[in-house]
Amino acid sequence: MSYLTDTREGAVHLLMGNEAIVRGALEAGIRVAAGYPGTPSSEIIESFSKVAEQQDLYAEWSTNEKVALEVSAAASFAGLRTMCVMKQNGVNVASDFLLHLASSGTRGGMVLVACDDPGALSSVNEGESRIFARLVEIPLLEPGDFQEAKDLTRWAFELSEELGNVVLLRSVTRMSHASGNVTYGPLVRATTQARFRYDGPLFDPECGPVISMIVGASKLQHEPQQEKIRKAALIFEDCPFNTYTGPEKPELLVITSSACNLYSREAINILQAGERVGILKLATTWPLPPKLMQKYLSTADRILIVEEVLPVLEEQIKILYAEMVSELGAKTFFGKNSGHLPSTGELNPDFVITAISSILDISYSPVSQSFAGQARELASISAANRGLTFCPGCPHRASFWTIHNALELDGRNGFVCGDIGCYVMGTLPSGFSTVKTLHSMGSGTGIASGFGKLKQFGMDQPVISVCGDSTFFHAAMPALANAVHQRSPLTMVILDNSGTAMTGFQPHPGSSENVLGEDAPALDIEAICRAMGARVEIEDPFDLEATRAAFHRLIELEEGAKVLILKQPCALSPERRYTKGFEMSIDEEVCLGENCGCNRLCTRIFGCPGIIWDDKKGVSRIDELICVGCGVCADICPAGAIRKGEVS
Ligand code: SF4
Ligand code: SF4
Repeated sequence: MSYLTDTREGAVHLLMGNEAIVRGALEAGIRVAAGYPGTPSSEIIESFSKVAEQQDLYAEWSTNEKVALEVSAAASFAGLRTMCVMKQNGVNVASDFLLHLASSGTRGGMVLVACDDPGALSSVNEGESRIFARLVEIPLLEPGDFQEAKDLTRWAFELSEELGNVVLLRSVTRMSHASGNVTYGPLVRATTQARFRYDGPLFDPECGPVISMIVGASKLQHEPQQEKIRKAALIFEDCPFNTYTGPEKPELLVITSSACNLYSREAINILQAGERVGILKLATTWPLPPKLMQKYLSTADRILIVEEVLPVLEEQIKILYAEMVSELGAKTFFGKNSGHLPSTGELNPDFVITAISSILDISYSPVSQSFAGQARELASISAANRGLTFCPGCPHRASFWTIHNALELDGRNGFVCGDIGCYVMGTLPSGFSTVKTLHSMGSGTGIASGFGKLKQFGMDQPVISVCGDSTFFHAAMPALANAVHQRSPLTMVILDNSGTAMTGFQPHPGSSENVLGEDAPALDIEAICRAMGARVEIEDPFDLEATRAAFHRLIELEEGAKVLILKQPCALSPERRYTKGFEMSIDEEVCLGENCGCNRLCTRIFGCPGIIWDDKKGVSRIDELICVGCGVCADICPAGAIRKGEVS
């Protein structure tokens, strides 16, 4: 039995924030969970999959976030409690359907969990999912600690059912991935049966068809939707998850939410300012409950709003304050607009300490610069030096090596439009600086499709796009369809490493297993591309010569969309891990070292961490601990010094 399904009420477990969210959903009787992998959200669906059989719930990794939201919505329309999970960039993908869903409303409790990444620790940007709650007019909840991550999640389902609309629950990396003790409530094993009622009158929230706006009749749904938001604000006035700690009349009122609540508490503790500073911790951050806000705004003349990235909370509080100014009198606000807190990156207790001590004129001696410098130095001495590079034996290194060299040989200034995934390193020297554009998932092929059509304006460079196998299903298929239909001459390279590798090998529609480990029909990428009308070739990227020849064949074709599938499992995938293709060695008598083609081609240019330069001997050697024996380096050595041997 998983610790997530411990049935003992009052049991205490150390849970990661993402697990606390799962436990909250289980206590609420969730029946369906869908999502798309992305740090820091991925553990939520993975945890559901581990308890799915025992709790009789359905979990899936969907093709992309919009589809995941649609799958979850179907469960809600059928009266089941359901959760949809994604990272902040995914809300952007799902937003098209989300806008319609917010309008049509929901039935069974439906919670959309968005895990934001302030500081972009594992993302390409610091996108703010909070903005979407306001944009699509749905309530926004933010847990302020790990216990609340569970309790607020359970409550979010009730709120969703009371309002008849989806509720956005926002976490951040430090809430999702840090851990804390959580006391369990009763565990529900839901038995709700799915039934979709559609035979009632239009707009009947219980038994009518569920539809978004009807052209020309938007008031019929937009007004009730806004009524739901007003109702949410009323409910939030008494929400037990909005809490205040501190003196009755603090010198400074800190208003905060999410992980910033933890930073603020720690800052006040360190400054020993508990007698002077109060914390209003909000769990319901949109819409703000006006009476509650008025009550606490009236307690202090100086207010510091502590939140990460954009001043979303700060601006809303100021709007509310402007409406109440005649009753509240003059106040001074501090936060991002005053420059006391930064508008980018993660916060931490030091930022809050600096802000509070400057506002209250508290002398605080932060850790001395020299101490901080020494600590950094020590950390760097004991930590392994890990540059940004592909793993040893990564098929993408071989793929980009061939693409780069083939384009150089071609001589027409061809370029590659890239995509999000571990192959973003194709933009860096470790990927031979091959990728020249990089945006969102699927956009490499969409952009390439556009470039391809510029031929009529004199553009004569070969246009190439790259994407991974998961991205192919997520967002690149429509871009390929466009390229085929528009007869855009591009070569799309699909780097098929057999899974959503960057986020932990979650399955996708091309996998033969689903998230529950059950057999699933694997969609054939090659057949799909052919069916779309593209010319398709398939190669093993470790076979450098065959890959180069196929690539040249395709880029030399003047017309239409071509697809080259480079298929080789990720070096860290379960099927390749702990297996070695070849026993590698370097013949020191043959190695040219400094005099080799590119002055140590293997270590300086090809750069697999499995080959190292032996300064003393003046030759390269294989690091047997790291080398996974893919054998590719043997093919790039101009002297033939690198040898492949049988694995004994
Ligand atoms: S192993 Fe080959 S590529 Fe590497 S330095 Fe020696 S000769 Fe050059
Ligand atoms: S065989 Fe060569 S390229 Fe492959 S992992 Fe080992 S050192 Fe790296």
